[in-house]
Amino acid sequence: MFIVPEREIADLMTRKAAFDAVESVFAAMASQDAYNFPVIREAIGHEDALYGFKGGFDKAGMTLGLKAGGYWPNNLEKQNVINHQSTIFLFDPDTGKVAAIVGGNLLTALRTAAASSVSIKHLARQDAKVIGMIGAGHQATFQLRAALEQRSFSKVIGWNYHPDMLPNLEKVATEAGLPFEAVELDQLGHDADVIISITSAFAPSLMSDHVSEGTHIACMGTDTKGKQEVESALLARATVFTDEVAQSVSIGEAQHAVSEGLLKESDVNQIGAVINGTHPGRSSDTEITLFDGTGVGLQDLAVASAVVELAVQKGVAIEVDF
Ligand code: NAD
Repeated sequence: MFIVPEREIADLMTRKAAFDAVESVFAAMASQDAYNFPVIREAIGHEDALYGFKGGFDKAGMTLGLKAGGYWPNNLEKQNVINHQSTIFLFDPDTGKVAAIVGGNLLTALRTAAASSVSIKHLARQDAKVIGMIGAGHQATFQLRAALEQRSFSKVIGWNYHPDMLPNLEKVATEAGLPFEAVELDQLGHDADVIISITSAFAPSLMSDHVSEGTHIACMGTDTKGKQEVESALLARATVFTDEVAQSVSIGEAQHAVSEGLLKESDVNQIGAVINGTHPGRSSDTEITLFDGTGVGLQDLAVASAVVELAVQKGVAIEVDF
C-alpha cells in the first residue's frame, strides 16, 4: 500500500486534476456507476469534536474507500494544528485490501472548489463577466481561484458577514489581475452573473429579490442540517442542481425549500446528468440556475485516487508492506 502524507499534496495536486476527477465522478454518480454510502457524523463527547466517515464506491473509476475526519474546534488554540482534520483511505475493490492512506485536508478544499467550478462550466452563461463571492474564509479563496478558470471574468465583487476578512478575496482577485470591490448584498445579487456562497451561516444572507435573471449560483457552505445561505424562495425561482439529491434535500441548501413545500425532491437535478448530456442544463439566458454543493465522499476518493497516481509517478509515495 501507499502513503501520501499531507505535506506532499500541495506539490502534487493541481486544480485541473481535481476538476477532472470531480467532473468524472459526478458523471458516474448520475449514470449509477458510483454511489455514496450513508454519512456518519458524531459528536464524540471529547474536545467538542465532530467526527465521522464519508465513503462510497465508484465502479467506473474502480475507487472504493472513505474519508474519516471532522472538526476539532480547540486544535488551533491548544495544539497549533488546524481545526478541520481528515484522512482518506482507499481499498482495492477486487480484494478489499487497503491500497492507500492519503492526507485529506488540502484535498477537501480542492475537491470542494472543483465542484462549484464544474457547476459553473456546465450551468453559467457563456458571457458571464462579474463573479460575486459571499464568504471570505478558508474555503472561499480556493473557490474563487477555481471559478475564475471557467469564464472570462472581468471583475470580482464580494460581501462577507465579517468585512475584515474581505482582503482574503481581494488578494486572489489581484493575483488573477482582476479588480475587486466590496459591495452590499443587493448590489452583489444585481451585478453578479455568477455567485458563490461559502459560509457557515444558519440563516440566509442572499434573498431572492437580490438576484438578477440569468445568474448562476453555487451554494457551497450548507452541508449540515440547519445551515442556510440563501432564501428558500430563490430555490423555488431557480432550476436546482446538486451533487447528490438525497444529501441536498436533507443536509444541503434545498432542505429548507423542501420542508417549506416550495420545492419537491423531484425538482432537484443531478449535475452529473448535465455532464452526461441526459439533462439539457441551462435552457435560456434568463433562467436562474442554482447548484447545491453538499460535498460527497466520492469526491474525496476521486481526488485521493488521482493524487496517489501522481505521487507514484513522481516517486514521493511511501510504499509500505501491509
Ligand atoms: P471559515 O471558518 O474559514 O469561514 C466561515 C465563513 O462564514 C466566513 O466567511 C465567515 O465570515 C462566514 N460566516 C460566519 N458566520 C456567519 C453568519 N452568521 N452569516 C454569514 N456568514 C457567516 O470556514 P470555511 O472552511 O471557509 O468553511 C465554510 C463553510 O463551508 C462551512 O460551513 C463548512 O462546513 C462548509 N464546507 C462545505 C463543503 C462542501 O463540500 N460543500 C466542504 C468544506 C466546507
